[in-house]
Amino acid sequence: MTTSETSTILVVDDQLSAREVLRGLLTLDGYNLAFASSGQEALAKAAEVLPDLVLLDVMMPGMNGFEVCRRLRSDNQLSEVLIIIMTALDDKRARLEAIEAGADDFVNKPIDPAELRARVRTITRLNRLRRLRALELQAERDRTKSILEALGEAVIVTDIHGIIQYLNPAATALTGYTSEEAIGKNWRLWQTEETETQPDSEFLQSLLAGETWYGEVVNKHKDGGSYDAALTVAPLFSANVDSNDSVIGFVIVQRDITPLKQAERSKDEFVSNVSHELRTPLSVITLLADNLELFYDRLNEAQRHKLIKDIQKHTQVLHDLIGDVLEISRIDSGRISMEREPLDLQEMVHEQAEDLRLLAEQKSQKLQVACSDDLHVVGNRAQLNQVIRNLVNNAIKYTADGGEISCECQLFSAPLSDTDTDLGGSWPDCHRLPEGRWAAFRVVDTGIGIEAEHLQHIFERFYRVQVEQNIRGTGLGLSISRTLIELHNGHIAVSSTPGEGSTFAVYLPLANGRQS
Ligand code: ADP
Repeated sequence: MTTSETSTILVVDDQLSAREVLRGLLTLDGYNLAFASSGQEALAKAAEVLPDLVLLDVMMPGMNGFEVCRRLRSDNQLSEVLIIIMTALDDKRARLEAIEAGADDFVNKPIDPAELRARVRTITRLNRLRRLRALELQAERDRTKSILEALGEAVIVTDIHGIIQYLNPAATALTGYTSEEAIGKNWRLWQTEETETQPDSEFLQSLLAGETWYGEVVNKHKDGGSYDAALTVAPLFSANVDSNDSVIGFVIVQRDITPLKQAERSKDEFVSNVSHELRTPLSVITLLADNLELFYDRLNEAQRHKLIKDIQKHTQVLHDLIGDVLEISRIDSGRISMEREPLDLQEMVHEQAEDLRLLAEQKSQKLQVACSDDLHVVGNRAQLNQVIRNLVNNAIKYTADGGEISCECQLFSAPLSDTDTDLGGSWPDCHRLPEGRWAAFRVVDTGIGIEAEHLQHIFERFYRVQVEQNIRGTGLGLSISRTLIELHNGHIAVSSTPGEGSTFAVYLPLANGRQS
């Protein structure tokens, strides 16, 4: 069917004179015209020009008008074409048969020009409107489809039995199933046992009653992994006005809430850890203070002094812990400063090491700083100072009296060349550095070292290795350091030999050292 403003009319009549009369009449109104002089020719012409309207004579030799009408109606491409049958007014039987064959209207023969033109005008105008509506509907469908395809949320449409009829690309990304794999299957495809144990009946009852269902479920991905999803299931109603608002299917929207759930779980874990960690020094302080009060008169000066010192020590632990917890909460809530400035790493290492020299001297440790190159990085001064201080402080803490600690800075170009092998070997994990130029800094100590089984955990929150010496700490320093380094697009690594010592290394992208 043509989509232009002008309708195409196929005139079918075996008599030339009749065709000519119609040509004369219809040309006046500007239609596109096509002609056929027999039933056979009419079908061929119709297939060729795809008319909007067929003006069909009944009495034709060979295939008559009724047969042409029936054949047009059963042709996929032409079944919607409008058909006006031209019959004699008094031929009631012919009209009945025409209706049964699928005709839309009649005009009387002999032709009344005014009537014919009026009928054709009305019927073609209606047809144009219908076509316009169909086009609008199609455009609406296309638009809905585009929206669904572009949507970040997974959308799945099923029939009333839960058989999947459509899923958008986001649903494929979330579930792992392509349209080909999912369509025709039951929506249980990605349900886990956890979701299956839900009271299906109650859930279905409310849906069938036209209510929308919201919930959180654990679904399984095609590859076997699971994900948390926020689910909205809404009933889909029949567009048919007669069907009385009946539910014909469901629209399911799945939103991936795995990261959210993960964050919730680690927050719960964190809060319970923090309360535990806070309680330990607090109960020690309470106990020590109680003892001091209770036995005050019986204790000598030195004993009292020792109790006060212990109280101060544990108060400091509490103080450090609260500081670290606040820092972590700032990091977790994204309230951490992202301010950056050009910095010289070697200068910062020098400064921080000097600040801690006194601490090392109290333990008669030798603290060396060896930095030759200027190492320009762009970063947050306070945060990077905190990392350096934490690593040097740990080295002092976990190294016995009289041990040695050395801080070194160096420039790396990754990947390392063969000649760098020796140098690379003593820098933990630097072979895994992505290509680029790196400002590197390491702290080497001759301390107690870390067993391999603990090494992989020491960057976790609250993870502490139990050591005999009972060294003060919160178990948060390294986890904070790693986060701060990652916020600077850097890397932190460790290597250690129990009883011999540890090396912690930090790699930061060099300023202007393009990562290529
Ligand atoms: P903290 O030192 O407060 O316990 P960290 O997060 O800084 O917490 O360190 C976690 C754990 O890693 C420490 O408890 C300790 O067992 C181990 N560790 C860190 N640095 C060293 C080091 N230089 N030598 C030996 N063990 C270390």
